[in-house]
Amino acid sequence: MSDNCIFCKIAAKGIPAKVIFEDDDLLAFLDLEPQAPFHALVIPKKHIVNLDDASEADGVLLGKILLKCAAIAKEQGLEGYRVVTNNNEIAGQSVFHIHFHILGGRRMTWPPG
Ligand code: 5GP
Ligand code: ZN
Repeated sequence: MSDNCIFCKIAAKGIPAKVIFEDDDLLAFLDLEPQAPFHALVIPKKHIVNLDDASEADGVLLGKILLKCAAIAKEQGLEGYRVVTNNNEIAGQSVFHIHFHILGGRRMTWPPG
């Protein structure tokens, strides 16, 4: 748990969130400002800032997150979905606790629009 980290606080239930999955390692909850009809975030309970802060030892945890993204998308009946993790401010990271966005329920375009 990192001081003043909003996602650590959500993981510790200090701040409410619409939780859709939880186990010992992970938490998934709905995004406060959805950018698609379905928009959830999957986080590790461990405080990792972003991929730059992850190490070899976090490999299994990161793999678990990706597989959970796929399981949630399937559960939600999404025909297709996008999984995104922003790394550092210039790439759009605004919460500095690693999180994987699951976006779906509409056609995705690239570049995003
Ligand atoms: P980033 O911009 O860092 O990639 O994504 C951060 C995401 O967290 C944003 O989509 C934002 O809407 C979401 N978010 C920020 N604060 C909260 C919060 O307190 N609760 C929830 N559920 N989502 C949040
Ligand atoms: Zn944190």
